[in-house]
Amino acid sequence: METKVAVVTGGNKGIGFEIVKGLCQKFNGTVFLTARNEERGLQAVKKLEELDLHPVFHQLDITSEESLQTFATHISSNYSGIDVLVNNAGLLDFDKSVSTYEESKKLIDTNFMSLLRISKILYPLLKDDARIINLSSDWGLLSNIRKQIWLDTLVKDNLTVDEITDFVNDFLQAAKNGKNAFVSFAGHYGDYKVSKVAMSALTFVQQRQFNELGKNISINCVHPGFVKSDMTNGMGDFTPERGARAPLYLALEAPQSLKGTFVWHDCHQVN
Ligand code: NDP
Repeated sequence: METKVAVVTGGNKGIGFEIVKGLCQKFNGTVFLTARNEERGLQAVKKLEELDLHPVFHQLDITSEESLQTFATHISSNYSGIDVLVNNAGLLDFDKSVSTYEESKKLIDTNFMSLLRISKILYPLLKDDARIINLSSDWGLLSNIRKQIWLDTLVKDNLTVDEITDFVNDFLQAAKNGKNAFVSFAGHYGDYKVSKVAMSALTFVQQRQFNELGKNISINCVHPGFVKSDMTNGMGDFTPERGARAPLYLALEAPQSLKGTFVWHDCHQVN
């Protein structure tokens, strides 16, 4: 029988680590703990091995096409495809609520543009009934955006990936124009909010595209709650293990018919 494969990005710590742990306990197949830094990734695997859990490590930097391609080749050479893909890796500088253009560009490149790289390089490996889980945020709800044109555009039934890319580029132009323009787009932490709103919008567009292709793939995004992790400088309401609950629900338990939705940390659907 063919081996099922689950992949978690940014699995070396925080919520991603706990998602890997939960998958190792309940997923009937091989679980890839991926990390951009090999040493941090292997240390995380060691921690899980001490609990008699056995994820497989592979280096994966989601901002690097070369790294994604190397991982894709490894999967296609050794497995029949990917069953579960958890897009967990992300960036936020919690100490800085208004970032420079360069900082915003890096954040949006990691949190949003990487999803386009992943679509190009890893999606061809998805099995026909695969599940994709995108770690969004309550800051990924459209209500965070203050520019009317984008509030109108992002809810269109026929929204395209190019329009979502125009949205993030319009924000980056605002960031280039200085602090006031940055804040008037989406308030403090606007770059992070824009990256997650774009992620949520992409989730809905890509679900529509999978449906149009007649594939039974599900793609959902999830707000894990306000979670104590390095990203939040240890602040938050939940442990990373609790933060992993809804992503694990989507990966393992949700009906395959749950498609193109935004799911809250308590597993209820909010769109
Ligand atoms: P952490 O900062 O604890 O972990 C982030 C992970 O992403 C780390 O493993 C980090 O690797 C990895 N990462 C960053 N950049 C890259 C990259 N280029 N390639 C591969 N991996 C990368 O954050 P959390 O666990 O808190 O967050 C996980 C996800 O949940 C994020 O997408 C976040 O936006 C989202 N989220 C978190 C909330 C919270 O309250 N914590 C709330 C809402 C959403 P490294 O160790 O090498 O830096």
